[in-house]
Amino acid sequence: MRLRRSMLGTLAVLLVGTLALSACGREGTPTGSGSGGAGSEGPAAPTYEVAENVTVVDSPTFARMQQRGRVIVGVKNDQPGLGQFDPTTNTYSGFDIEIARMIAANLGFDPKTEIDYVVVQSAAREDAISRGDVDYYVGTYTINDKRKERVGFAGPYFVAGQDLLVKKDNTDITGPQTLQGKTVCSVTGSTPIQRVREQNLTQNIVEFQTYSQCVDQLLQGQVDAVTTDDAILKGYAAQNPDQLKVVGQTFSEEPYGVGVPHDDIALRTKINEILQASYDDGTWQQIYDATLGKSGLPASPPPIAQS
Ligand code: GLU
Repeated sequence: MRLRRSMLGTLAVLLVGTLALSACGREGTPTGSGSGGAGSEGPAAPTYEVAENVTVVDSPTFARMQQRGRVIVGVKNDQPGLGQFDPTTNTYSGFDIEIARMIAANLGFDPKTEIDYVVVQSAAREDAISRGDVDYYVGTYTINDKRKERVGFAGPYFVAGQDLLVKKDNTDITGPQTLQGKTVCSVTGSTPIQRVREQNLTQNIVEFQTYSQCVDQLLQGQVDAVTTDDAILKGYAAQNPDQLKVVGQTFSEEPYGVGVPHDDIALRTKINEILQASYDDGTWQQIYDATLGKSGLPASPPPIAQS
């Protein structure tokens, strides 16, 4: 099914620039190209065979994709190892990006030339999906009941856990119970910021639209910790190993799903089938090993939810 890996460096060619807020890019080089703190060594991401004659009966979203001849995927652009945009090569890389590409290929679209990436931050995801701004969304998006009221989820395709990022020399923050009196930064509309509030872990919460803004605040000494999923924090720590560390005490389960329009059951089912096939034929593992797995942590795919 899959073609062997390839290091097609093609494409710096496709220039589509950065559109103001919604940096919308087209595809270029494969991952494993060094951006994102995951390192440039190790296995490259797979090349995906583009499926032919795909039908997804009763999927309005798929019908729109076909009519357009392109897929619009919602992603993050500042999360190393997961979803990161490199302006020098005009390419995206990371685990979520590869999952998005693999899905596009199995829906019959060439991931190198027929995907438009639209950056959607955490707080805007339900709106973007339900308005149809994106066909599907792959970006550290935790499946939960509240969100399910507005969007559908395929997956999960990964399970992360909430953790804390602190300065390397910090010794007093060792877990969620040590945050009282500390200033913690997280992102608007995310499950981690909600948990800090609900569990009253601290009163001093600083919030931004992106985690990279929080990391800047941490590096500047404006906040004591950044909290979100361990998978995200490890990417930032890897970019700044001399200054930052992840505490390593996860205190939640964050199952990542592919966000789809709420009533498009056919698309959700199809993406679940695509994910399952990628588990079964080793593609998921290859993607993981080429992206998040470079941090050295082994992982296997979680079972796909039945509804
Ligand atoms: N997985 C969490 C969430 O969906 C945190 C990461 C994010 O904000 O994307 O809220």
